[in-house]
Amino acid sequence: MGSDLTDTNNADQFLIAAIRNGDQRAWRQLIERYQGRLLAFARARLRGPGEAEDALQETLLGFVTSLAHFDESRSLETYLFAILRYKIGEVLTKKNRRKEIVTGFDVDDDSPGIPDPANSETPSQAAAHHELTRQQADVLATILRRLIEEFRDRDKLDDLKVIELLFYVGLRNKEAGERLDRDEKAVAGVKFRALNCLRDYLEELPDERRNLLGSASVSSEATVSRIWRERRLSCLKRSTLGSYVLGVLDEPWNSYARFHVKEIGCLMCRANLDDLSRESERIGDDVGERMFQSSVGFLSRPG
Ligand SMILES: [Zn+2]
Repeated sequence: MGSDLTDTNNADQFLIAAIRNGDQRAWRQLIERYQGRLLAFARARLRGPGEAEDALQETLLGFVTSLAHFDESRSLETYLFAILRYKIGEVLTKKNRRKEIVTGFDVDDDSPGIPDPANSETPSQAAAHHELTRQQADVLATILRRLIEEFRDRDKLDDLKVIELLFYVGLRNKEAGERLDRDEKAVAGVKFRALNCLRDYLEELPDERRNLLGSASVSSEATVSRIWRERRLSCLKRSTLGSYVLGVLDEPWNSYARFHVKEIGCLMCRANLDDLSRESERIGDDVGERMFQSSVGFLSRPG
């Protein structure tokens, strides 16, 4: 179940290359692909008339005007959500309103380090973002991703839930046990085995990659949680979420999807879900057209 994100990234890279060349059709395609989920995300947090649309527009403008700084080895979707969160934060701050947290664990609760991509080079933001170097984060993400894939391939989704609550949400063994109705000792066992696996995976990496990590914070829970969120390590494929919406997702995936969205409260997957369930009564085309018209002028001229 892991390759869809890679396919998406390839398609996105292709699109971005075209947009960098000033290709308007590619820009329209990008808007069409992402507007629904971004708008759903914004609407969950901004309730004033037109606020969500404005935030979406700002996001697209922010993206297109900072395109030069976008590192295409990163996930476009995650990047767009990061800009959108920043824009939403601006609106909420401006209105001097307490941040509205939908329910449960808010994935961006602890993310002061997400820079405004339009000026991501200011020293304080750089410092916040680089406690762990990019390469170190890559190493950590590699072994975490492998752990998650192992759980999925072996249908050990109950254990994955444990790990997600411990590593991603940051619960203690006892709390995780209560949430999942599992014995605290069983939870501790899952954690123990997971940490052993991570250590093994690290050992199996080529020396030069392993040494990158050095003594850096494999043990820092905040770091693991941040990487987990930023890289969306356990997020569900859009097609899986689509089956979930239609009620045709098989167990144990169905209950896992419900867990990830409802218990973990992953706002990005929730936004995808909202978008998917709205797909029939498409808010879409005129919003998309407006977004396109208001941003297309910022594309670079074909060179
Ligand atoms: Zn998710």
